[in-house]
Amino acid sequence: MSQTMRLTNFGRNLTWQPEHFAQPTSEQEVLDLLNQHRGKQIRVIGRLHAWSEAAKCNEVSLDLRNMSSITLHHEGDDHWVEVGAGCRIKDLILELDRQGWTLPSVGLIMDQCIAGACATGTHGSGRHSLSHYVQSVRLATYDAETGQAVIRTVDEGDELRAARCAIGCLGVVTSLRLPIRPQYTIREQIRYRQIRTLEAALDAEEEYPLQQFYMYPWLWEFAAQHREEDRDNKRSSVAWLYRLYWLISLDIFLHLEFLFLVRICRGWGIRTLFRSFLPKTVIENWVVSDTAYKQLTMQHSLFRHIEIEIFVKRSHLPGTMKFVEQFLRLGGGERDALAPEMRSQLEPLGLFDELDAFCGKYLHHYPICIRKILPDDTLISMGSSDDEAIYSVSFISYARPDDRAGFLMMADLLARSTAALFGARPHWGKVNPLPPKTLVDLYPHIGRFKQIADQYDPEGVFRNEWMQSVLSAVDSSDARSSDNPVSTVSDSTEPSNPLRNS
Ligand SMILES: Cc1cc2nc3c(=O)[nH]c(=O)nc-3n(C[C@H](O)[C@H](O)[C@H](O)COP(=O)(O)OP(=O)(O)OC[C@H]3O[C@@H](n4cnc5c(N)ncnc54)[C@H](O)[C@@H]3O)c2cc1C
Repeated sequence: MSQTMRLTNFGRNLTWQPEHFAQPTSEQEVLDLLNQHRGKQIRVIGRLHAWSEAAKCNEVSLDLRNMSSITLHHEGDDHWVEVGAGCRIKDLILELDRQGWTLPSVGLIMDQCIAGACATGTHGSGRHSLSHYVQSVRLATYDAETGQAVIRTVDEGDELRAARCAIGCLGVVTSLRLPIRPQYTIREQIRYRQIRTLEAALDAEEEYPLQQFYMYPWLWEFAAQHREEDRDNKRSSVAWLYRLYWLISLDIFLHLEFLFLVRICRGWGIRTLFRSFLPKTVIENWVVSDTAYKQLTMQHSLFRHIEIEIFVKRSHLPGTMKFVEQFLRLGGGERDALAPEMRSQLEPLGLFDELDAFCGKYLHHYPICIRKILPDDTLISMGSSDDEAIYSVSFISYARPDDRAGFLMMADLLARSTAALFGARPHWGKVNPLPPKTLVDLYPHIGRFKQIADQYDPEGVFRNEWMQSVLSAVDSSDARSSDNPVSTVSDSTEPSNPLRNS
């Protein structure tokens, strides 16, 4: 059934009305819809949690929430789940938990659908992104000879690496196969006084491989959420109290404070909150073990916000964090915040006028979360890497949707500066302001990705305007011939910059 529908994403920064909207309930219905709308632009929406234009489509939007079956398989040492593309991650995780299993990785929330999360390289901390783990996908696309819609299974080689994170460009994913592991518990504690610096936070990584850490703006110090798998695999007796503490004091009360300071006080009090109160009010060294997904997630969808997240290699993280501090101080009104060394690195980028105009236009008001992503075996997820681990650095704003000009100016300048200085990639599913050519230059394997996307979708009907402009920029980029086998493509297109290794 086709209907008209106005769609708005979680962040309320995008609204569109596709000509046709449908919620198929089976693969056959997906194929019928594809045949019915042959030649039109077709895209699937997940739970519309992306802030980027990833899900936008003006012609045919499909919502696969009714295709959410979950089937567990066990063959010898192999354990996996076959899951319908539209299944909400929360429903999947709860069903797996009921049977004593879980996913190898999960992000901060579980509200996305599984195909939507994989399509954009959604990640948590200390593991690969979800996309990396995908073992096969069933994909509805058009047969090149007959033009009829068909189902293809993609389960090996570069095609699988492309399909793992494809931002909808290969076709309609109808189901995915993901490995599962026995449910486990994670020990967690928050530490600030023993951390404070980036070096200390990184040093703790070996002992706490699943940790994520934060830089407090305006204090410019670090705190860590130390996490490790609990070898005893036992939930603490006070785990329920810890959950209640997180929910009331952090997920609700702290966020209400941010909303009050940003929306009512217009930023007044933010610096004092970070310098004098926040680090002291978080309970430190309370060691609690709880079921993995409960420790790894929070109620982050409770209050509407907007986010940009950039991804850099481990060796570029110190330089990136130094830049971030100076850049945000500039936004907060410190005209001399950029150190001379930083200024000379920025000079060739031609961004000075814009950076000057940025001074005093944006007061950052949320802890900057840093997470480690193990190198993904994908072609274009943000975590894809042939060598080093990747670190994500996130910037969140709780400004009202109609009052985000400062945030968007910050996001645009941040993305362009850090892409040039550190090869930083913005999340495909979060605010992603980079021009197509710059984006393409950040992904050494995107030439191969485009080759596969062209093979699966020669007419480009599964690309929206954004993805069409990105993939069109691949042709004009010189360094990555799509004839190169992926394994021999080098990372040589990264701009060299001494700041990156500082
Ligand atoms: C509160 C909040 C917290 C978040 N936390 C994290 C986090 O911890 N880590 C992280 O990495 N990201 C995080 N994100 C980003 C989020 O995971 C991504 O934007 C994700 O893509 C959203 O999934 P969705 O189901 O809402 O998909 P949508 O936003 O609806 O779509 C995303 C993309 O998936 C494609 N797609 C969806 N289903 C299919 C299908 N069946 N076939 C083909 N293509 C499909 C769409 O076309 C689109 O390109 C968060 C977002 C929010 C709002």
